[in-house]
Amino acid sequence: MSLIVQKYGGTSVGNPERIRNVAARVAKYRAQGDQVVVVVSAMSGVTDNLIKLAKEIMPLPNEREMDVLLATGEQTTIALAAMALHALGVKAVSLTGAQAGIKTDGVHTKAKIQNITPKKIHQHLKDGNVVIVAGFQGETPDGHITTLGRGGSDLTAIALAAALKANLCQIYTDVDGVYTADPRIVPGARKLEEISYDEMLELASLGAKVMQSRSVEFAKKFGVIFEVRSSLNDNPGTIVKEETKNMEDVVIRGVSLDKNQAKVTLVAVPDKPGVAARIFKSLGDAAINVDMIVQNISHGSGAPATDLSFTVDKADLLKAQKVIDGLKQEIHFGGIIATDKIGKLSIVGVGMKSHSGIAGKMFETLANEGVNIEMISTSEIKISVIIDLAKGEQAMKAVHAAFLG
Ligand code: ADP
Ligand code: ASP
Ligand code: MG
Repeated sequence: MSLIVQKYGGTSVGNPERIRNVAARVAKYRAQGDQVVVVVSAMSGVTDNLIKLAKEIMPLPNEREMDVLLATGEQTTIALAAMALHALGVKAVSLTGAQAGIKTDGVHTKAKIQNITPKKIHQHLKDGNVVIVAGFQGETPDGHITTLGRGGSDLTAIALAAALKANLCQIYTDVDGVYTADPRIVPGARKLEEISYDEMLELASLGAKVMQSRSVEFAKKFGVIFEVRSSLNDNPGTIVKEETKNMEDVVIRGVSLDKNQAKVTLVAVPDKPGVAARIFKSLGDAAINVDMIVQNISHGSGAPATDLSFTVDKADLLKAQKVIDGLKQEIHFGGIIATDKIGKLSIVGVGMKSHSGIAGKMFETLANEGVNIEMISTSEIKISVIIDLAKGEQAMKAVHAAFLG
Protein backbone atom coordinates (compact mmCIF):
# COMPACT_ATOMS: atom_id res chain seq x y z
CA MET A 1 0.00 0.00 0.00
CA SER A 2 1.37 3.40 -1.01
CA LEU A 3 0.53 6.88 0.15
CA ILE A 4 0.14 9.03 -2.94
CA VAL A 5 -0.23 12.80 -3.21
CA GLN A 6 -1.91 13.87 -6.45
CA LYS A 7 -2.36 17.48 -7.48
CA TYR A 8 -4.86 18.53 -10.13
CA GLY A 9 -4.54 21.99 -11.68
CA GLY A 10 -7.23 24.39 -12.84
CA THR A 11 -7.91 22.92 -16.29
CA SER A 12 -8.00 19.41 -14.85
CA VAL A 13 -10.92 20.45 -12.62
CA GLY A 14 -12.28 23.04 -15.06
CA ASN A 15 -15.84 21.68 -15.33
CA PRO A 16 -18.04 18.97 -13.74
CA GLU A 17 -17.01 16.39 -16.31
CA ARG A 18 -13.31 16.99 -15.63
CA ILE A 19 -13.95 16.76 -11.88
CA ARG A 20 -15.69 13.41 -12.41
CA ASN A 21 -12.67 12.38 -14.48
CA VAL A 22 -10.37 13.22 -11.57
CA ALA A 23 -12.60 11.26 -9.21
CA ALA A 24 -12.47 8.22 -11.49
CA ARG A 25 -8.65 8.30 -11.53
CA VAL A 26 -8.48 8.68 -7.76
CA ALA A 27 -10.98 5.83 -7.34
CA LYS A 28 -8.74 3.58 -9.45
CA TYR A 29 -5.79 4.15 -7.11
CA ARG A 30 -8.05 3.62 -4.10
CA ALA A 31 -9.28 0.33 -5.57
CA GLN A 32 -5.62 -0.86 -5.66
CA GLY A 33 -5.49 -0.21 -1.93
CA ASP A 34 -3.45 3.02 -2.07
CA GLN A 35 -4.11 5.92 0.29
CA VAL A 36 -4.65 9.10 -1.69
CA VAL A 37 -4.35 12.76 -0.72
CA VAL A 38 -5.66 14.98 -3.49
CA VAL A 39 -4.72 18.65 -3.81
CA VAL A 40 -6.88 20.71 -6.13
CA SER A 41 -6.64 24.18 -7.66
CA ALA A 42 -9.51 26.53 -8.33
CA MET A 43 -11.41 25.73 -11.53
CA SER A 44 -9.63 27.32 -14.51
CA GLY A 45 -10.22 31.04 -14.80
CA VAL A 46 -11.70 31.39 -11.31
CA THR A 47 -8.66 32.93 -9.61
CA ASP A 48 -8.16 35.37 -12.50
CA ASN A 49 -11.81 36.37 -12.28
CA LEU A 50 -11.63 36.96 -8.54
CA ILE A 51 -8.59 39.20 -9.05
CA LYS A 52 -10.44 41.09 -11.78
CA LEU A 53 -13.44 41.59 -9.52
CA ALA A 54 -11.28 42.95 -6.72
CA LYS A 55 -9.53 45.38 -9.08
CA GLU A 56 -12.90 46.66 -10.22
CA ILE A 57 -13.53 47.67 -6.62
CA MET A 58 -10.09 49.30 -6.23
CA PRO A 59 -6.76 49.11 -8.10
CA LEU A 60 -4.60 48.17 -5.09
CA PRO A 61 -6.84 46.09 -2.80
CA ASN A 62 -5.87 45.21 0.74
CA GLU A 63 -3.83 42.01 0.59
CA ARG A 64 -5.41 40.32 3.59
CA GLU A 65 -8.81 40.70 1.97
CA MET A 66 -7.38 39.46 -1.35
CA ASP A 67 -6.45 36.22 0.39
CA VAL A 68 -9.90 35.82 1.91
CA LEU A 69 -11.29 36.27 -1.59
CA LEU A 70 -8.81 34.07 -3.50
CA ALA A 71 -9.07 31.15 -1.08
CA THR A 72 -12.73 30.71 -2.07
CA GLY A 73 -11.68 29.39 -5.49
CA GLU A 74 -10.01 26.27 -4.11
CA GLN A 75 -12.68 25.83 -1.44
CA THR A 76 -15.28 25.39 -4.18
CA THR A 77 -13.25 22.67 -5.88
CA ILE A 78 -12.51 20.56 -2.78
CA ALA A 79 -16.22 20.21 -2.04
CA LEU A 80 -17.10 19.37 -5.65
CA ALA A 81 -14.28 16.82 -5.86
CA ALA A 82 -15.41 15.16 -2.61
CA MET A 83 -18.96 14.96 -3.99
CA ALA A 84 -17.69 13.41 -7.24
CA LEU A 85 -15.95 10.69 -5.22
CA HIS A 86 -19.09 10.13 -3.11
CA ALA A 87 -21.02 9.69 -6.34
CA LEU A 88 -18.68 6.79 -7.15
CA GLY A 89 -19.18 5.29 -3.71
CA VAL A 90 -15.69 6.31 -2.52
CA LYS A 91 -15.29 7.76 0.97
CA ALA A 92 -13.81 11.26 0.78
CA VAL A 93 -13.43 14.33 3.00
CA SER A 94 -12.48 17.84 1.95
CA LEU A 95 -10.21 20.07 4.03
CA THR A 96 -9.25 23.72 3.62
CA GLY A 97 -5.55 24.55 3.92
CA ALA A 98 -6.06 25.63 7.53
CA GLN A 99 -7.95 22.44 8.41
CA ALA A 100 -5.17 20.41 6.80
CA GLY A 101 -2.71 22.01 9.26
CA ILE A 102 -0.83 24.26 6.84
CA LYS A 103 0.67 27.16 8.79
CA THR A 104 2.26 30.09 6.98
CA ASP A 105 3.85 33.44 7.68
CA GLY A 106 1.72 36.57 7.33
CA VAL A 107 2.93 37.83 3.94
CA HIS A 108 -0.48 37.95 2.31
CA THR A 109 -0.81 36.83 -1.35
CA LYS A 110 2.65 35.19 -1.27
CA ALA A 111 2.91 33.57 2.12
CA LYS A 112 5.60 31.00 2.89
CA ILE A 113 4.72 27.69 4.52
CA GLN A 114 6.24 27.56 7.98
CA ASN A 115 5.11 24.12 9.05
CA ILE A 116 2.49 21.48 8.46
CA THR A 117 0.78 19.43 11.17
CA PRO A 118 -1.12 16.84 9.16
CA LYS A 119 -2.91 15.27 12.16
CA LYS A 120 -6.37 15.57 10.64
CA ILE A 121 -5.18 14.22 7.29
CA HIS A 122 -3.74 11.14 8.97
CA GLN A 123 -6.95 10.60 10.94
CA HIS A 124 -9.16 10.78 7.86
CA LEU A 125 -6.83 8.51 5.89
CA LYS A 126 -6.92 5.97 8.71
CA ASP A 127 -10.71 6.04 8.54
CA GLY A 128 -10.50 5.01 4.90
CA ASN A 129 -11.09 8.40 3.29
CA VAL A 130 -9.56 10.04 0.30
CA VAL A 131 -8.51 13.42 1.70
CA ILE A 132 -8.99 16.39 -0.60
CA VAL A 133 -7.01 19.47 0.37
CA ALA A 134 -7.49 22.97 -0.99
CA GLY A 135 -4.29 24.01 -2.75
CA PHE A 136 -2.72 27.48 -2.62
CA GLN A 137 -3.84 28.35 0.91
CA GLY A 138 -2.94 28.19 4.57
CA GLU A 139 -3.35 30.22 7.72
CA THR A 140 -1.11 32.27 9.96
CA PRO A 141 -0.55 31.13 13.56
CA ASP A 142 -3.21 33.63 14.63
CA GLY A 143 -5.77 32.40 12.15
CA HIS A 144 -5.66 34.74 9.13
CA ILE A 145 -6.24 33.08 5.76
CA THR A 146 -3.22 33.32 3.45
CA THR A 147 -2.39 32.27 -0.12
CA LEU A 148 0.93 31.00 -1.45
CA GLY A 149 1.41 32.98 -4.68
CA ARG A 150 0.08 32.16 -8.16
CA GLY A 151 0.40 28.50 -8.99
CA GLY A 152 0.65 27.81 -5.27
CA SER A 153 -1.29 24.54 -5.36
CA ASP A 154 1.90 22.93 -6.66
CA LEU A 155 3.57 24.02 -3.44
CA THR A 156 0.73 22.63 -1.32
CA ALA A 157 1.15 19.26 -3.02
CA ILE A 158 4.94 19.10 -2.71
CA ALA A 159 4.90 20.30 0.89
CA LEU A 160 2.22 17.75 1.82
CA ALA A 161 4.18 14.99 0.08
CA ALA A 162 7.18 15.94 2.24
CA ALA A 163 5.18 16.27 5.47
CA LEU A 164 3.33 12.98 4.92
CA LYS A 165 6.45 11.19 3.64
CA ALA A 166 4.39 10.13 0.64
CA ASN A 167 5.67 7.32 -1.56
CA LEU A 168 4.63 9.14 -4.73
CA CYS A 169 3.89 12.74 -5.71
CA GLN A 170 2.10 13.32 -8.99
CA ILE A 171 1.34 16.73 -10.47
CA TYR A 172 -1.50 16.33 -12.96
CA THR A 173 -1.90 19.10 -15.51
CA ASP A 174 -3.13 19.77 -19.03
CA VAL A 175 0.09 18.80 -20.87
CA ASP A 176 1.93 15.47 -20.90
CA GLY A 177 4.86 16.71 -18.81
CA VAL A 178 7.66 19.25 -18.87
CA TYR A 179 8.63 20.16 -22.44
CA THR A 180 11.74 21.78 -23.91
CA ALA A 181 9.55 24.91 -24.27
CA ASP A 182 5.89 25.78 -23.74
CA PRO A 183 4.23 23.46 -26.30
CA ARG A 184 1.48 26.03 -26.80
CA ILE A 185 4.00 28.55 -28.15
CA VAL A 186 6.63 26.30 -29.72
CA PRO A 187 4.96 23.50 -31.69
CA GLY A 188 8.28 21.64 -32.07
CA ALA A 189 8.84 21.39 -28.29
CA ARG A 190 9.60 17.87 -26.99
CA LYS A 191 8.54 16.22 -23.77
CA LEU A 192 11.41 15.52 -21.38
CA GLU A 193 11.64 12.15 -19.61
CA GLU A 194 13.47 13.70 -16.71
CA ILE A 195 14.85 17.01 -15.57
CA SER A 196 16.97 18.10 -12.59
CA TYR A 197 15.56 20.23 -9.78
CA ASP A 198 17.94 23.05 -10.69
CA GLU A 199 16.88 23.13 -14.34
CA MET A 200 13.20 22.87 -13.44
CA LEU A 201 13.68 25.64 -10.89
CA GLU A 202 15.29 27.94 -13.45
CA LEU A 203 12.68 27.18 -16.12
CA ALA A 204 9.88 27.73 -13.61
CA SER A 205 11.32 30.97 -12.25
CA LEU A 206 11.90 32.14 -15.80
CA GLY A 207 8.33 31.78 -16.94
CA ALA A 208 7.57 28.11 -17.64
CA LYS A 209 4.42 28.12 -15.56
CA VAL A 210 4.04 24.34 -15.70
CA MET A 211 5.42 24.32 -12.11
CA GLN A 212 5.41 27.09 -9.52
CA SER A 213 9.08 27.88 -8.85
CA ARG A 214 8.74 27.94 -5.07
CA SER A 215 7.32 24.42 -5.14
CA VAL A 216 10.40 23.20 -7.01
CA GLU A 217 12.67 24.92 -4.50
CA PHE A 218 10.79 23.14 -1.73
CA ALA A 219 11.02 19.78 -3.52
CA LYS A 220 14.79 20.18 -3.92
CA LYS A 221 15.24 21.13 -0.27
CA PHE A 222 13.29 18.14 1.02
CA GLY A 223 14.23 15.68 -1.73
CA VAL A 224 10.67 15.20 -2.98
CA ILE A 225 10.85 13.40 -6.34
CA PHE A 226 7.75 14.20 -8.36
CA GLU A 227 6.21 13.47 -11.71
CA VAL A 228 4.47 16.04 -13.94
CA ARG A 229 1.86 14.29 -16.10
CA SER A 230 -1.44 14.73 -17.87
CA SER A 231 -4.84 14.36 -16.23
CA LEU A 232 -6.31 13.69 -19.67
CA ASN A 233 -4.46 10.45 -20.53
CA ASP A 234 -2.25 7.73 -19.02
CA ASN A 235 1.04 8.67 -20.72
CA PRO A 236 4.11 8.67 -18.49
CA GLY A 237 5.14 12.21 -17.59
CA THR A 238 8.40 13.93 -16.62
CA ILE A 239 10.31 12.93 -13.49
CA VAL A 240 11.85 15.85 -11.58
CA LYS A 241 14.76 14.84 -9.36
CA GLU A 242 18.33 15.56 -8.26
CA GLU A 243 20.85 16.01 -11.08
CA THR A 244 22.57 12.84 -12.32
CA LYS A 245 25.92 12.63 -14.12
CA ASN A 246 24.55 12.06 -17.63
CA MET A 247 22.27 15.12 -17.44
CA GLU A 248 25.28 17.34 -18.23
CA ASP A 249 25.57 15.77 -21.68
CA VAL A 250 22.63 17.88 -22.79
CA VAL A 251 23.73 21.51 -23.11
CA ILE A 252 20.32 23.22 -23.22
CA ARG A 253 17.41 21.50 -21.52
CA GLY A 254 14.76 24.10 -22.26
CA VAL A 255 13.75 27.59 -23.32
CA SER A 256 11.27 29.79 -21.48
CA LEU A 257 9.59 33.13 -21.96
CA ASP A 258 8.31 35.17 -19.05
CA LYS A 259 5.66 37.66 -20.12
CA ASN A 260 4.89 38.60 -16.57
CA GLN A 261 7.70 40.97 -15.86
CA ALA A 262 7.85 44.73 -15.90
CA LYS A 263 10.88 47.00 -16.09
CA VAL A 264 11.54 50.10 -14.05
CA THR A 265 14.35 52.51 -14.93
CA LEU A 266 15.49 55.27 -12.62
CA VAL A 267 17.19 57.92 -14.73
CA ALA A 268 20.18 59.96 -13.52
CA VAL A 269 20.56 58.43 -10.09
CA PRO A 270 23.31 60.18 -8.06
CA ASP A 271 26.38 57.95 -8.09
CA LYS A 272 27.31 57.59 -4.43
CA PRO A 273 27.44 54.86 -1.81
CA GLY A 274 24.18 53.81 -0.19
CA VAL A 275 21.77 54.81 -2.96
CA ALA A 276 21.19 51.33 -4.38
CA ALA A 277 20.91 49.98 -0.85
CA ARG A 278 18.22 52.54 -0.02
CA ILE A 279 16.20 51.73 -3.15
CA PHE A 280 16.29 47.95 -2.90
CA LYS A 281 15.82 47.91 0.87
CA SER A 282 12.60 49.91 0.41
CA LEU A 283 11.38 47.54 -2.30
CA GLY A 284 12.22 44.57 -0.10
CA ASP A 285 10.36 46.09 2.85
CA ALA A 286 7.29 46.32 0.60
CA ALA A 287 7.68 42.56 -0.14
CA ILE A 288 8.44 43.27 -3.80
CA ASN A 289 10.68 40.67 -5.41
CA VAL A 290 13.24 42.28 -7.66
CA ASP A 291 14.65 40.06 -10.35
CA MET A 292 17.20 41.48 -12.79
CA ILE A 293 19.18 44.60 -11.91
CA VAL A 294 21.41 46.53 -14.29
CA GLN A 295 23.44 49.58 -13.39
CA ASN A 296 26.32 51.23 -15.13
CA ILE A 297 28.03 54.49 -14.23
CA SER A 298 27.85 57.17 -16.86
CA HIS A 299 31.32 58.31 -17.87
CA GLY A 300 30.09 61.43 -19.63
CA SER A 301 30.56 64.98 -18.37
CA GLY A 302 28.56 66.42 -15.47
CA ALA A 303 27.93 65.08 -11.98
CA PRO A 304 28.49 61.32 -11.72
CA ALA A 305 25.14 59.68 -12.25
CA THR A 306 23.84 56.34 -13.35
CA ASP A 307 20.75 54.82 -14.89
CA LEU A 308 19.46 51.96 -12.80
CA SER A 309 17.06 49.40 -14.27
CA PHE A 310 15.40 46.50 -12.56
CA THR A 311 12.55 44.10 -13.23
CA VAL A 312 9.66 43.04 -11.00
CA ASP A 313 6.51 40.96 -11.42
CA LYS A 314 3.93 42.80 -13.49
CA ALA A 315 1.55 42.50 -10.54
CA ASP A 316 4.00 44.49 -8.38
CA LEU A 317 4.64 47.30 -10.87
CA LEU A 318 2.20 49.82 -9.37
CA LYS A 319 3.44 49.07 -5.88
CA ALA A 320 7.09 49.42 -7.00
CA GLN A 321 6.39 52.77 -8.67
CA LYS A 322 4.75 53.99 -5.48
CA VAL A 323 7.78 52.96 -3.41
CA ILE A 324 10.19 54.68 -5.82
CA ASP A 325 8.06 57.85 -5.96
CA GLY A 326 8.28 57.94 -2.18
CA LEU A 327 12.10 58.09 -2.41
CA LYS A 328 12.24 61.01 -4.87
CA GLN A 329 12.72 63.71 -2.21
CA GLU A 330 15.48 61.78 -0.54
CA ILE A 331 17.47 60.46 -3.50
CA HIS A 332 16.93 63.21 -6.12
CA PHE A 333 17.03 60.97 -9.20
CA GLY A 334 16.13 62.46 -12.57
CA GLY A 335 13.00 60.48 -13.37
CA ILE A 336 11.36 57.11 -13.58
CA ILE A 337 10.38 55.11 -16.67
CA ALA A 338 8.18 52.05 -16.23
CA THR A 339 7.00 49.57 -18.86
CA ASP A 340 5.32 46.20 -18.82
CA LYS A 341 5.84 45.63 -22.53
CA ILE A 342 8.85 43.41 -22.02
CA GLY A 343 9.52 39.70 -22.12
CA LYS A 344 12.29 37.72 -20.51
CA LEU A 345 13.63 34.99 -22.77
CA SER A 346 15.89 32.37 -21.20
CA ILE A 347 17.78 29.22 -22.06
CA VAL A 348 18.51 26.72 -19.31
CA GLY A 349 20.71 23.66 -18.98
CA VAL A 350 23.16 22.15 -16.47
CA GLY A 351 25.34 21.28 -19.47
CA MET A 352 26.20 24.98 -19.83
CA LYS A 353 28.64 24.51 -16.97
CA SER A 354 30.90 22.49 -19.25
CA HIS A 355 30.24 23.99 -22.70
CA SER A 356 31.24 27.37 -24.14
CA GLY A 357 29.92 29.62 -26.90
CA ILE A 358 26.31 29.40 -25.78
CA ALA A 359 25.75 33.12 -25.16
CA GLY A 360 27.26 34.04 -28.54
CA LYS A 361 24.98 31.60 -30.33
CA MET A 362 21.89 32.88 -28.50
CA PHE A 363 22.66 36.55 -29.19
CA GLU A 364 23.45 35.84 -32.83
CA THR A 365 20.12 34.05 -33.23
CA LEU A 366 18.34 37.07 -31.76
CA ALA A 367 20.27 39.47 -33.99
CA ASN A 368 19.24 37.48 -37.06
CA GLU A 369 15.62 37.92 -35.96
CA GLY A 370 16.10 41.67 -35.56
CA VAL A 371 15.49 41.43 -31.81
CA ASN A 372 17.18 44.03 -29.61
CA ILE A 373 18.53 42.96 -26.20
CA GLU A 374 17.69 45.42 -23.39
CA MET A 375 19.16 43.58 -20.40
CA ILE A 376 21.22 40.41 -19.92
CA SER A 377 21.70 38.23 -16.90
CA THR A 378 23.41 34.87 -16.53
CA SER A 379 24.04 32.14 -14.00
CA GLU A 380 26.00 28.91 -14.26
CA ILE A 381 23.05 27.16 -15.89
CA LYS A 382 21.04 29.91 -17.62
CA ILE A 383 21.18 32.96 -19.85
CA SER A 384 18.29 35.45 -19.78
CA VAL A 385 17.62 38.51 -21.89
CA ILE A 386 14.98 41.20 -21.66
CA ILE A 387 13.45 41.97 -25.05
CA ASP A 388 10.41 43.67 -26.57
CA LEU A 389 7.29 41.72 -25.57
CA ALA A 390 5.88 41.95 -29.09
CA LYS A 391 8.85 39.92 -30.41
CA GLY A 392 8.90 37.46 -27.51
CA GLU A 393 7.29 34.43 -29.13
CA GLN A 394 9.10 34.87 -32.43
CA ALA A 395 12.41 35.07 -30.55
CA MET A 396 11.52 32.04 -28.43
CA LYS A 397 10.79 29.90 -31.49
CA ALA A 398 14.05 30.96 -33.15
CA VAL A 399 16.16 30.25 -30.07
CA HIS A 400 14.43 26.90 -29.53
CA ALA A 401 15.12 25.97 -33.15
CA ALA A 402 18.78 27.00 -32.83
CA PHE A 403 19.46 24.89 -29.71
CA LEU A 404 16.80 22.20 -29.64
CA GLY A 405 15.29 22.08 -33.13
P1 ADP B 1 -2.24 23.78 -13.91
O1 ADP B 1 -3.51 24.55 -13.99
O2 ADP B 1 -2.40 22.31 -14.10
O3 ADP B 1 -1.40 24.13 -12.72
P2 ADP B 1 -0.67 25.52 -15.55
O4 ADP B 1 -1.48 26.26 -16.56
O5 ADP B 1 -0.24 26.23 -14.32
O6 ADP B 1 -1.43 24.17 -15.21
O7 ADP B 1 0.63 24.90 -16.25
C1 ADP B 1 0.49 24.11 -17.41
C2 ADP B 1 0.82 24.94 -18.63
O8 ADP B 1 2.18 25.33 -18.57
C3 ADP B 1 0.71 24.21 -19.93
O9 ADP B 1 -0.60 24.27 -20.43
C4 ADP B 1 1.72 24.91 -20.82
O10 ADP B 1 1.10 25.80 -21.73
C5 ADP B 1 2.54 25.74 -19.85
N1 ADP B 1 3.99 25.55 -20.02
C6 ADP B 1 4.90 26.54 -20.06
N2 ADP B 1 6.12 26.08 -20.24
C7 ADP B 1 6.02 24.74 -20.31
C8 ADP B 1 6.96 23.68 -20.47
N3 ADP B 1 8.27 23.92 -20.60
N4 ADP B 1 6.50 22.41 -20.48
C9 ADP B 1 5.19 22.16 -20.33
N5 ADP B 1 4.25 23.12 -20.17
C10 ADP B 1 4.65 24.39 -20.16
N1 ASP C 1 -5.67 28.98 -8.18
C1 ASP C 1 -4.34 29.48 -7.96
C2 ASP C 1 -3.86 30.18 -9.23
O1 ASP C 1 -4.57 30.21 -10.23
C3 ASP C 1 -3.39 28.46 -7.50
C4 ASP C 1 -3.11 27.33 -8.46
O2 ASP C 1 -3.87 27.11 -9.40
O3 ASP C 1 -2.12 26.63 -8.26
O4 ASP C 1 -2.78 30.72 -9.22
MG1 MG D 1 -0.13 25.75 -12.29
